[in-house]
Amino acid sequence: MVAALTEKRLLIGGEWIETGEWVEVRSPYSGDVVGRVAKAGARETCQALDAAERAMQEPLPAHKRAEILVRVAAALGRRQDEAARLISDEAGKPMKAARVEAQRAMSTYTFAAVEARTFAGEMVPMDAAQAGAGKLAFTVREPIGVVAAISPFNFPLNLVAHKLAPALAAGCAVVLKPASQTPLSALLLAELEEEAGLPAGWVNVVVGPAAEIGDVLVEDERVKLITFTGSGGVGWGLRERAPKKRVNLELGNATPVIVAADADVSLAATKVAQNAFSFAGQSCISAQRVYVERSAYEEFVAILLPLVDALKVGAPSEEDTDVGPVIDEDARARILDWIQTSRGEVFTGGELEGELIRPTVIANPAPEDKVSCEEVFGPVCTVTAVDSLEEAITLANGTRYGLQAGIFTTTLDNALRAAQALEFGGVVVNEAPTFRSDQMPYGGVKDSGNTREGPHYAVREMTEERLVVLELP
Ligand code: NAP
Repeated sequence: MVAALTEKRLLIGGEWIETGEWVEVRSPYSGDVVGRVAKAGARETCQALDAAERAMQEPLPAHKRAEILVRVAAALGRRQDEAARLISDEAGKPMKAARVEAQRAMSTYTFAAVEARTFAGEMVPMDAAQAGAGKLAFTVREPIGVVAAISPFNFPLNLVAHKLAPALAAGCAVVLKPASQTPLSALLLAELEEEAGLPAGWVNVVVGPAAEIGDVLVEDERVKLITFTGSGGVGWGLRERAPKKRVNLELGNATPVIVAADADVSLAATKVAQNAFSFAGQSCISAQRVYVERSAYEEFVAILLPLVDALKVGAPSEEDTDVGPVIDEDARARILDWIQTSRGEVFTGGELEGELIRPTVIANPAPEDKVSCEEVFGPVCTVTAVDSLEEAITLANGTRYGLQAGIFTTTLDNALRAAQALEFGGVVVNEAPTFRSDQMPYGGVKDSGNTREGPHYAVREMTEERLVVLELP
């Protein structure tokens, strides 16, 4: 099916503007141009910051912010199909997964609306200290200021929602720089916010050269918080360059799954088959490294491989496709290289089907292989037999990443042991570690980041606590 061409201008200060230059958006599957977007540079980014600053001079009350957020959620509900197709066209995400993402964005806005109505400061028990006796104190949460949001290609709608919606809930105006490969869904979201009644300047979108736009966002003192989702190299670099700003990072992972000897092996294999290859593994919590206690290993592999081989590889626009393309040729070449240089045995996949990488399972790779310790971000998982739960935990922890991990076990002791010992921001039991529901606190430790998203947690980050102390009569 040939995708319709989508053309979008930039939203700056409530105006949809053209700049005379365009960024082409190409389907990662066919290479066809599926859209084009007006190209911004440093000048437009400064204009966007001016607009955001102006907008915040007239604060929007919480009830108005909540109403707008609810209206965006409703619009996303009505325009699910359009949103899913846009995601699929620009990211090459199979429709099955694109529909889930579009639905989740609705949930993200709904939870942000709840935050807008309920988020508040707290009472401080002043007479708990001698010095505080005779005083009353409470905190209020003030918007931190202008937020710069930078988002990745892999969830072009919902990860933008995870920045725009909490920022509005918190009362902050935003300058958004979406990934150049996938700006269309982000601009749709901005359009929906505007249609929902958001006044000019509260959301501004600039698409264009990352370093040029990034430099303005880093250097401009009006930006108080940079919320970044993407790769570690870029994210930690931004943080180093902006020591006076809050820089919140949601980065990558090399997601481990432990299958204990007492696990429901069939459940574990089914979940891994579903969650290691969805969107060709291009989720930061795609199941990647599976450690199986030796007594369960053969059964696990025997169930897993036919499920993997049954996945349908093909065009993302087809409703029954499970695995589509990776984002570009460089990514494909890197992933194939990592497969070929692994010292493990390729059980299935490892080659192209047409232009697409077949879902690949590698058995018992060396711990120092790239597929064992780095983020593959492709349709690849490893399966490794281990002698004990302790060994599995040690191997799972043996990377620089720490976003989410999972364990399959029927024993409470094992589940609790793993929850205590796995050095990750989240530990998921008897479900793939790819699981995310949008109200959860989501984020990593170690190289995976330094914050938590989910509207409740993001709103905290996007506000400053102000203390008010009153002398009692
Ligand atoms: P990326 O290459 O780091 O790009 C992310 C964003 O940063 C894009 O908008 C990119 O713009 C921008 N960027 C690049 N260089 C910049 C600079 N010098 N200054 C300012 N912005 C700059 O990441 P990606 O390939 O899109 O995404 C994949 C990565 O994101 C993976 O590592 C994945 O694990 C991670 N991720 C993490 C989470 C999470 O929640 N923890 C969720 C999803 C993805 P251009 O597109 O214009 O280059």
